[in-house]
Amino acid sequence: MSLPAPRPGILNIEPYTPGSSGAPGAAETFKLSSNESALGASPEAIEAYRASGEGLFTYPEGSAAVLREKLAEMHGLDAARIVCGAGSDELLQLLARGYLGPGDNIVQSAHGFLVYAIAAMACGAEPRFAPEKNLTVDVDAMLEMVDEKTRILFIANPNNPTGTYIPDAELRRLREELRDDVLLVIDAAYAEYVDEADYSPGEKLVEDYDNVVMTRTFSKIYGLAALRLGWAYCPAAVADVLNRIRGPFNVSTGAQAAGVAALEDQEFIRRNREHNRAERDFLQQQLGGLGLDFVPSHGNFVLVKFPEDAGLGAADIHAFLKKNGVIVREMGGYGLPDYLRVTVGPKEGNRKFIALLEKKFSRD
Ligand SMILES: *Cc1c(COP(=O)(O)O)cnc(C)c1O
Repeated sequence: MSLPAPRPGILNIEPYTPGSSGAPGAAETFKLSSNESALGASPEAIEAYRASGEGLFTYPEGSAAVLREKLAEMHGLDAARIVCGAGSDELLQLLARGYLGPGDNIVQSAHGFLVYAIAAMACGAEPRFAPEKNLTVDVDAMLEMVDEKTRILFIANPNNPTGTYIPDAELRRLREELRDDVLLVIDAAYAEYVDEADYSPGEKLVEDYDNVVMTRTFSKIYGLAALRLGWAYCPAAVADVLNRIRGPFNVSTGAQAAGVAALEDQEFIRRNREHNRAERDFLQQQLGGLGLDFVPSHGNFVLVKFPEDAGLGAADIHAFLKKNGVIVREMGGYGLPDYLRVTVGPKEGNRKFIALLEKKFSRD
């Protein structure tokens, strides 16, 4: 008798390892491992979530209409082409399920977000990794990886875990040199943190082309990671596909209510962005002062290099920080074993992180 077996390829998937959250033994811990909001969530969003408890016995409104209208109004988009999901993660998975099958492939960059590869493999498709230049997406290398089996090209812009981005003109060139039948998915999870004038999250590309999708999330600057809420802006035909295959009630009532309230509290977003800018500068300045190599970041996290060197390599520093109550993210899974990624956290957490590094790297 044979046992139930998953489809070919499923057991080749390395499960996604989330940032760890526990540091047993340490009195006070700072979780700087999952790029969560440094200022928590908007009080308005928390209140809206609480209030939604009265309606727990009814199914959610299945199309998230109020939330989509609000997003459309705020960003100047067509609400009919917005699809909401349980985190942008669900939308990335649905895009894979809608467009990939055995024999197909996706292209992503060498140190791009790993969820894309997992989603592709779950559909029997092969992930292909294009080399990067200076830990930044290389548009020509991405295009070179595309072959007749390629169905989706995924790019996180800015990328997690590197924190680098490509300017709007490069993103546009990537689309222009791509075949029309390949979907270009732009994951703009960190868009709100980018200050650069030559950056754009990609709405305009979605409007200009029929094969570009942009995904966004409420998990980062909006501080609603626990609720699982994201959205995609799509060509009409892609929105139609996602709406056919998603669960009929994929976004909970509480998530919809909190999402609307969070969008209405842009003052909170402004403060969170300010905080991130100031604290990211602080971290980068201090790291530089300690003689550590880091990748200048456009997100709410910084990738720092700890080359293997007499007890001061990434694994040692990770363990040392953890023992002392600061949890950062190891990067072996991303092919960056000499690096750690630290989230720009609350002031005290960032200072504790730097104070601990000073104990190891201070040059005076
Ligand atoms: C955090 C993150 C997301 C957000 O995922 P959710 O499922 O919306 O929480 C998406 N893409 C990237 C690159 C991320 O780092």
